[in-house]
Amino acid sequence: MSRAGPSGGLRVREKGGAFVFTFEAEFFPDLTKTSVSEFCGEELSVLLHTLRRNGQLIEQLWNLVEQNGAIKLYCIAPEEDALEPRHFNRYGLEALSAVLQKSVRPPVFRVIGKTVGLSDACACENSEYYVLFSNFAAEYSPVSCGDCNLPVPLYKLPGENEDEFYALRQWQGEYKACDSLFVLSGVGEKFGYREISEVDSSLTRDGCDVCREMSQKCNRPFYYFLHRHISPLETCPRCGQEWGLDEKLHGFYAFKCDHCRLLSDSP
Ligand SMILES: [Zn+2]
Ligand SMILES: [Zn+2]
Repeated sequence: MSRAGPSGGLRVREKGGAFVFTFEAEFFPDLTKTSVSEFCGEELSVLLHTLRRNGQLIEQLWNLVEQNGAIKLYCIAPEEDALEPRHFNRYGLEALSAVLQKSVRPPVFRVIGKTVGLSDACACENSEYYVLFSNFAAEYSPVSCGDCNLPVPLYKLPGENEDEFYALRQWQGEYKACDSLFVLSGVGEKFGYREISEVDSSLTRDGCDVCREMSQKCNRPFYYFLHRHISPLETCPRCGQEWGLDEKLHGFYAFKCDHCRLLSDSP
């Protein structure tokens, strides 16, 4: 039951898109202070998860290889400059400092090339609005750009993110779980579908709270998406107004209410 969507799988590069890149990095742990396994399990692990929470690394698509006492890392980042220090938040800088304290010299990062088979990232300078969007298989940012329809790396969102986008990441985890139940079409299918498709479900209420919080932080509208697989919502489920679009937005969204900041698709 996989479906296309703002960030659904392979896609052609669109206006505003930046490529997703695979990196190779090398770390040099100081073996008088730590062991390879301790360094990987502690300082390096903290650094990688901090970068992931900030959207600088794509989910957990990384692996580590030991080579003569050094650690090689292969990872995927949403832009060629995603791992430059100017994109680090304070947690990332703290984690990097802890890595350096246990290293004989600083890590080295190299771009290997464009990653094949993953959605490109949004590269718009000033997106007019954003959409909270995920699905069971999503490994990228749960925020898509209203202008180019590509996922927006979280570190590029304006405004502070002292809590490392906690509510946003929590919503994404729960959305993926509910969508997985629906897609598996088994024991939790009805529950999962209700959560992702109804305006009054707990998941939707949480998601709309996230939209409000994010639009205040970013000073841009955030829309919430209701996925309909069985019957479309012919009027806005919140205000009751007609909300059908003459032409599908980004070839996907069939309904939009600017007052309630809701979007929906059509089966
Ligand atoms: Zn964009
Ligand atoms: Zn409405």
